Amino acid sequence: MLRSLFLLVIMIPVQLSASSKIDFDTYFSKGALRVDLYHTGVSDNEVYAVDEIIREPFWGGNPRHLIDDMNLGGHILRVYDLKTNVLIYSMGYCSVFGEWITVDEAISGKARTFHESLIMPFPKGPVQIRIDRRDRANIFRTVYDLVVDPEDYNIATETRHSGFKVRKIVDNGPPDRKVDIVILADGYRRDEIHKLRDDVKRFVDIFFDVEPFRSRKKDFNVRLIESISVQSNVDNPREGVYRDNLLGLSFNSLDLDRYMLSLSNKTIRDVAAKVPYDQIIILANEEKYGGGGIFRLYATCISDNEHDGYVFVHEFGHNFTGLADEYFSSQVSYNDSYPAGIEPWEPNITALLDPESVKWQHLIKDGTPVPTPDDSLHTDLTGAFEGAGYSAKGLYRSAQDCIMKSKALNGFCPVCSEAIEKMIDFHTR
Ligand SMILES: [Zn+2]
Repeated sequence: MLRSLFLLVIMIPVQLSASSKIDFDTYFSKGALRVDLYHTGVSDNEVYAVDEIIREPFWGGNPRHLIDDMNLGGHILRVYDLKTNVLIYSMGYCSVFGEWITVDEAISGKARTFHESLIMPFPKGPVQIRIDRRDRANIFRTVYDLVVDPEDYNIATETRHSGFKVRKIVDNGPPDRKVDIVILADGYRRDEIHKLRDDVKRFVDIFFDVEPFRSRKKDFNVRLIESISVQSNVDNPREGVYRDNLLGLSFNSLDLDRYMLSLSNKTIRDVAAKVPYDQIIILANEEKYGGGGIFRLYATCISDNEHDGYVFVHEFGHNFTGLADEYFSSQVSYNDSYPAGIEPWEPNITALLDPESVKWQHLIKDGTPVPTPDDSLHTDLTGAFEGAGYSAKGLYRSAQDCIMKSKALNGFCPVCSEAIEKMIDFHTR
């Protein structure tokens, strides 16, 4: 009797672990599989097409956490072993396409194409790759699937941009146990390489002076790829400035002057492939204020602006943790980013559909009024303050101030800090 009970008890966890704990060596070998896609469409219609499939030398992820159970991101990549139909890898993420479909151009029906890469550990056998995207109600719908055979001789393996030097800026050990940041340079000429090295050192010092990064520094590696451009600076369309900058950064992305993105995804990925990485930060040799950060795509930052340190940390918050903007008074290009009555997936803003159980309830002290009045009596409290996610009404943040709200290095709010720590754990434990 005792023995059969024991068997019953151990049977249950084994079944559960089949979906939640995947043995890396059973399904994957060294390196990364990169599937490059063109993603074309308008707000209510989209299509993917294969550009190229590549085997990269490194995969920077955590082999102990192959299934992403954090439910973050507008899209999720799922990879199934074709023979057994077991889910062997998943990863939530965001894309430029996902933002673009909320701007006027996309809503009016003018189609555009964006280049995207799906990156996963290199599979040992054929896999089915599936992309789901959230609809307006935040429900995932399948938008693409593809079978890839790792033996296919069309999978490219060459090294690209091999001339660029790699420098280890912070080295705390093997990439499978670290958050691996790669910094790429854009708009730096060869004769500006010493400026690049000085800029990177300054940003890394600023970054590791902000909590929780300061306490968790041992969990990070930082590498710099000295990706040199023909010309200095980056594109600034509103001023008629167009540069031959390697990685294609441009101000005025989605027609918002301060928004600095690149649509040259292929070049960015080809350059970054020289090192194992989890996060890409692209540093623009620029004085003009601007930046951008898209969850698990990249963060961008300028090098010579009075607010550049703040931009570096704020955009990393978007890129690394999927944090939402907590500000609500600045202009953006998006229409109706957060539909009324739908709880946002981002960890740090809420629609407060149930004030009795806020998603960060465990951080709210008993007796704190919810919604929390935005006045001098509630400055150091965690609560639910109205105004967040580009909207003064209907969306709430957890604290009066945060790096995701104000243009200052005044620290992350407790909710953002906790989400960042959780993400560091995901990459390292
Ligand atoms: Zn925050």
